[in-house]
Amino acid sequence: MYKYDFHTHTDFSGDCEFPMEIMIEHAINNNFKKLCFTDHFDYDFPSTELSFQLDIPAYYNKFMELKEKYNSKIDLLFGIEVGIQPHIYDVIIKTINKYPFDFVIGSTHVINKQDPYCGEYYKNKTKKEAYDKYLKEILYNVNNFNDYNVYGHLDYIIRYGNYEDKKLYYKDYSDIIDAILLKIIESNHGIEINTSGYRQNFKEPHPNVDIIKRYGELGGEIITIGSDSHNPEHLAYNFDKACNLLLKNGFKYFTVFKERKPEFIKIPCV
Ligand SMILES: [Zn+2]
Ligand SMILES: [Zn+2]
Repeated sequence: MYKYDFHTHTDFSGDCEFPMEIMIEHAINNNFKKLCFTDHFDYDFPSTELSFQLDIPAYYNKFMELKEKYNSKIDLLFGIEVGIQPHIYDVIIKTINKYPFDFVIGSTHVINKQDPYCGEYYKNKTKKEAYDKYLKEILYNVNNFNDYNVYGHLDYIIRYGNYEDKKLYYKDYSDIIDAILLKIIESNHGIEINTSGYRQNFKEPHPNVDIIKRYGELGGEIITIGSDSHNPEHLAYNFDKACNLLLKNGFKYFTVFKERKPEFIKIPCV
């Protein structure tokens, strides 16, 4: 089966050390039809250790050089993963519209200027409070920000809290999750099935199956598959599981993007 990975990082991201060319060669050797790079652009990120400022001119030049070099072997797409925060909408819009991106993932990595990765965000909050606040921020973003194609890893908040059961259960947040999904659908955006959750002991993708199922029930059709790989070995990680999960939950197609427009590909039986 051909592979199409629409969430991957390279050493243009502050948290990845593998050059783009290594990723491309791995993909070519492993039956990839399309590979989309989505390096991090997190403007005004609160961390002092890592920088998520993306040197977009250098990223674009390297991409174009390698796209030309490998053109006959793989379809390479130019994407970006943008960290959305309400006070930087203008910066994001101005920045991404200067370059011919094929695909834009909008992600919430920071809530109220706090990075959940550091743990501080969860302090003095019950799980319900922490998850509610996170989902409200996403709802605010989908209602007020339009310049993305799919919303990244919708239940990302489960990664770093130290609650005994970290899972975000759809039934506990159904009103707000429905509002988010309906807005995404109505504004012709989509979500992704991010298989990095399988690598992080959740045994489920981001978002979890209940949310993906609900997205389909509400009429959602645009759904990309991404590994969120920061390492060649993780490219297309557990995509067979992701395809089976989609088929089981009523999806017949997954989505790829070119020039910011969706194209639909029939999900193979795997
Ligand atoms: Zn992310
Ligand atoms: Zn990512």
